[in-house]
Amino acid sequence: MLALGVSTTTPSPSRVTPMLRQYFEMKNRVPDAILLYRMGDFYEMFFDDAKDAAPLLGIALTARHKDSDIEAPMCGVPHHSVDHHVARLVAAGRKVAICDQVEDARAAKGLVRRDITRVVTPGTVLDPESLVPDAPCYLAALTRAEPDWGVAFLDLSTGRFHAGLVPALRIGDALALFRPREILLAEGQEAPEFAAAVSRRGAAWWEEASRGEAHAGLPAAGRTAAGAALAYARQMRPGALLHVGAPQPLAFGEQMGLDAAAIATLELFESSDGSSARSLFAILDRTRTPLGARALREALCHPSRDPVELTARWDAVEELVRRRDDAETLQEQLARVGDLERRFARVAVGTAGPREVAALAAGLEAVPAVLAAAGAFAALRFRALCERVPDTADCVARIASTLSPEPPVLASAGGVIRDGADAELDQLRALRRGAQQALLAIEAEERKRSGISGVRVRFNRVFGYSLEVSNAHKEKVPADWIRKQSLANAERFITPALKELEEKILTAEDRIAAIENRLYAGLLADLAQAGERVAATADAVAQLDVAASLAENAASGRWVRPELSKTPCLSIVEGRHPLVERLRREEPFIPNDCDLATDRRILLVTGPNMGGKSTYLRQVATIVLLAQAGSFVPASRVRLSPIDRIFTRVGAADYLSRGESTFMVEMLESASILSQATPASLVILDEVGRGTSTFDGLSIAWALLEYLHDAPGKGAFVLFATHYHELTEIALVKPAVVNATMAVKELEGRVLFLRKVVPGAADRSYGIHVAELAGLPPEVTDRAREVLSNLEKQELDVQGAPVLARRQGESAGSGQFLLFSAEEELALDKLRAVDVDQMTPVAALSLLATLQDRLKGKTGEKPAKPQPLSGKPER
Ligand code: ATP
Repeated sequence: MLALGVSTTTPSPSRVTPMLRQYFEMKNRVPDAILLYRMGDFYEMFFDDAKDAAPLLGIALTARHKDSDIEAPMCGVPHHSVDHHVARLVAAGRKVAICDQVEDARAAKGLVRRDITRVVTPGTVLDPESLVPDAPCYLAALTRAEPDWGVAFLDLSTGRFHAGLVPALRIGDALALFRPREILLAEGQEAPEFAAAVSRRGAAWWEEASRGEAHAGLPAAGRTAAGAALAYARQMRPGALLHVGAPQPLAFGEQMGLDAAAIATLELFESSDGSSARSLFAILDRTRTPLGARALREALCHPSRDPVELTARWDAVEELVRRRDDAETLQEQLARVGDLERRFARVAVGTAGPREVAALAAGLEAVPAVLAAAGAFAALRFRALCERVPDTADCVARIASTLSPEPPVLASAGGVIRDGADAELDQLRALRRGAQQALLAIEAEERKRSGISGVRVRFNRVFGYSLEVSNAHKEKVPADWIRKQSLANAERFITPALKELEEKILTAEDRIAAIENRLYAGLLADLAQAGERVAATADAVAQLDVAASLAENAASGRWVRPELSKTPCLSIVEGRHPLVERLRREEPFIPNDCDLATDRRILLVTGPNMGGKSTYLRQVATIVLLAQAGSFVPASRVRLSPIDRIFTRVGAADYLSRGESTFMVEMLESASILSQATPASLVILDEVGRGTSTFDGLSIAWALLEYLHDAPGKGAFVLFATHYHELTEIALVKPAVVNATMAVKELEGRVLFLRKVVPGAADRSYGIHVAELAGLPPEVTDRAREVLSNLEKQELDVQGAPVLARRQGESAGSGQFLLFSAEEELALDKLRAVDVDQMTPVAALSLLATLQDRLKGKTGEKPAKPQPLSGKPER
């Protein structure tokens, strides 16, 4: 950001030219945006803006502009490709201000007047190039209202708008769900951690913005946030914003809740490696319209827990699965609808081009066929959705009677309005056509009169119409031609008749353009009035698209309809993880069961590293999420009682950027789960207690499980994966804990992972085996086996560590912490082993001498060799 007088790159005032003074004036109006300043055919960026933008745009940074006398870092883009470059900057999370010349450069006295004509921010952008078709584009406005946040989420590109209160504890979850691209905050307020552009406005601005916003049913802070979001959007997009209705109250509670961790863990929108193509959404998405794709995202973010709603959704999917041909017909019709919402949003703010308006009409025109195709189905949801669709035939008719049949992309190109739409326009066009005929007539006549066969009528923006004659023939030019312009090889002339005609043509052109503009603006304004109807249409189309998409996916993946249970229950037969099953095809996916109920609601999963524990845990949660999003599920049978929230605490993600230790985060997340889980929640805990010492971790994990088992009002379903096989003993004392393990088979020293969840407890982790598979040097893995066997023999003294360091058959060094050294242990072992009854006195004496030598360290015996290594770790 450039701050005048602060930046070292800012020139001293004495060297500031008028142009630069104008530049700074503009720049100061939008200090947090990158300013694109029009100079000739280019938009230029200067100083820090240039340094920021050049790498983002992949263009060269230079040091000096030919038209100014100042040395400054700068870079520029050609005016005709500015939209593309703006889109790239905005996609990178930057705000951009466009400063244009607002007077004709030829008419300007001195410096051309310039003004900021457009500010584009990541959260208010409407240009299709900057938007992801299948994702929403939210602007968030947040205001702290202890103990909550007043929150509004506004998607200007579709008109979707939500506002309300969110408890401070869940603000991160709300942001993870809506994924705003820009966050509006009051100056001085601490921003919640989220990767989005932040825009700040002073407290007075917020007050002003929220005044006059009287959204009934919203709490005060929610209203303030809604007002701020709207005011900011209006600032960026002057106009009525007719496509934005009243904000929907945010309902954190009616739907199933997902925390930010669950969204990441279940790879809803991005896989763990950051790929959106390998996300759950991506493999589910078979929608035919961007509207449907966005609604599918929404369904995944806000799964329902209303049995009536769920049954209605599953009924619809079931019928679509059963009647594939009719479902395909519906999808073919859906494909013709296109992005009604976003096209309409651009109409409503007045930026839609004529071709977009034509596409909107085509989309609306396709709706009756969609409804007819949906009407072929019996499930109640189809009728409910179709009934909600209002008639928009008048909009289609209005567009058809106004717009020309093949309209241009840009309104300024002309030819936007159809013949017959306006009598005056028709007349002027006839006049223009006539004038063109007259031009040709003049050309022919002058050619005959002068005898110059090469005479041509030419048009030039500055000089207008003229007769062009090549230099070879200029001697033959009649005396009454008036010379207008000399070119390298030719001369241009006018005649009074030509001049008169030119006048007529140019006036007609101007009037035609004025009328076309007026009629087009009128068309957009009229259409904007249909906001509610278009939104309702778009909504129903989107839901039909979602149902058809879920059905297509269910049919192709052999997914089944979930069943509802009235008593708490989560029973899955032969469940699969949809992402692992589809994306990792190296080995066949092994289905697994899950059977939880009130009296067995905590499943403790132990098993080898790489055994498939994490996959299993995520699979169960994913199946629940899919079911409650209205989808069929990858299993052969699923019965469940609606879950109110899925909590996950998984693995050690990289929290370094947040400046918190991994273990601290782990504990914070665990604390929040313990405080929020209810008997209807599903809690997934993977490797809790890993980030600290074994004893600490084990103790915390044990106590956590006890709490989840015993604490009144908790009683959630819990899946707990752990390497601490010691934990499995908890099942002996806590009746609702069930042990399960990932089966393995040992074959000739090799371990085979069967990926099968079986009852029982693992007795070890096979970590060293996995380390071997991963290619750790044998010196390391062999030594690890020794240390492991020391550990497992419980050769731990009070202080611990020195024993772990010991090699088998070696002296333990100082030994000061130990009761017995290794040599002493060996001597004792030998002593314990002898059968005194069978010994001769000589043998006894000899043994005594050997033992004494050994204890005095005089033995000639070599230390025992390390244990021979088999594939099986020493126990
Ligand atoms: P660790 O304890 O080391 O984290 P883990 O027990 O959690 O391991 P996962 O990460 O779930 O194991 O799985 C290990 C590998 O096995 C993964 O590559 C996964 O794709 C594969 N896998 C897991 N479950 C199955 C299954 N049911 N069928 C086929 N492959 C599976």
